[in-house]
Amino acid sequence: MVGAGSPAISVRGLSKHYDQVRAVHGLDLDIEDGEFFSMLGPSGSGKTTVLRLIAGFEPPTAGTIRLGDEDVTDRAPYDRDVNTVFQDYAIFPHMSVLQNVEYGLRVKRVAKPERRRRAEEALATVRLEGYAARRPHQLSGGQRQRVALARALVNRPKVLLLDEPLGALDLKLRREMQVELKEIQREVGITFVFVTHDQEEALTMSDRIAVFNDGRIQQLATPVELYEQPASAFVAGFVGTSNLLDGQVAKELVGEDGTFVIRPEKLVMHAEDGAPAADGNTAVAPGVVREVVYLGASTHSVVELDAGATLTVAHQNTDRSIDAALERRQQRVVLSWRRDHLVALGRAPDPETPSPEEES
Ligand code: ADP
Ligand code: MG
Repeated sequence: MVGAGSPAISVRGLSKHYDQVRAVHGLDLDIEDGEFFSMLGPSGSGKTTVLRLIAGFEPPTAGTIRLGDEDVTDRAPYDRDVNTVFQDYAIFPHMSVLQNVEYGLRVKRVAKPERRRRAEEALATVRLEGYAARRPHQLSGGQRQRVALARALVNRPKVLLLDEPLGALDLKLRREMQVELKEIQREVGITFVFVTHDQEEALTMSDRIAVFNDGRIQQLATPVELYEQPASAFVAGFVGTSNLLDGQVAKELVGEDGTFVIRPEKLVMHAEDGAPAADGNTAVAPGVVREVVYLGASTHSVVELDAGATLTVAHQNTDRSIDAALERRQQRVVLSWRRDHLVALGRAPDPETPSPEEES
């Protein structure tokens, strides 16, 4: 990306080791200005550590961090143009909402009229006009999280780091806040680095997602690419339900060696006597329905193929098809799929791209 403006954040060779634990290992990463960037991964994969290193709460074991065109690796947190919002939003219980939001500006000795104006503006941005005089205990969880966000936004940082900020909210509120947070980010144009272990949350909100495991990025891509072209079995399994065909099963059903993924919604289930014939475009495989899971809008059927793999099939409940699906429990069926819907794993799209094993 030489030639374009500097990325908002640029990390090279970043590592953080705690004794034997490689919390973060050899990370290279560029996050663009104004991007909604997510770090997605299981618990313990190093996401929080990366945020803490970017914020400057801890020194790295190795590597450099640049914000814009400045190397901030050795700078104190207050000397970096970033703000952090945590899950356990540390808002002051004895202060009003307005005082909480103003706090950072007071510390920076911003004059009162300006402070007031900017705090009210930040409260409007997070849709909390009219709540300025309330105390935190008079707010819902979602409102408290907005106060925490306003408190960070009021400083107008270039970059906002968010560590599972919606983790404490119930599912309905979390979904609402996901949409709002994305809108707010678009409005203010600040670079958001958003940490979550929730794949749906990451897919909903992000411009790009880095999938973490064991302190390393497994894949960095747009939501669509991650879902449609997972680079590894780990990513395929962490982002969506993965149906894997490998070993002998791949040989038999795909006709090649390798590991392949097919997404549940790409599979079609037929009665034993109603299946299409296999041809160059379509693959078919007989099996037995082992489980049927009703999910409201859709139903998942788990099918054990005679060839050996177990695949999940998703179908939309557009009519009362759940009855038909339930009747198929333990019945023999045939699955079909378009061969071009199979994704081969572990094959770089460009043969020039070095494989992970070849890195230094
Ligand atoms: P995540 O946020 O993805 O859940 P973390 O970045 O918190 O993961 O942790 C990554 C790894 O580093 C974990 O194995 C964790 O136990 C370890 N770790 C994090 N902070 C410390 C610390 N202060 N001391 C020792 N080990 C730590
Ligand atoms: Mg964490």
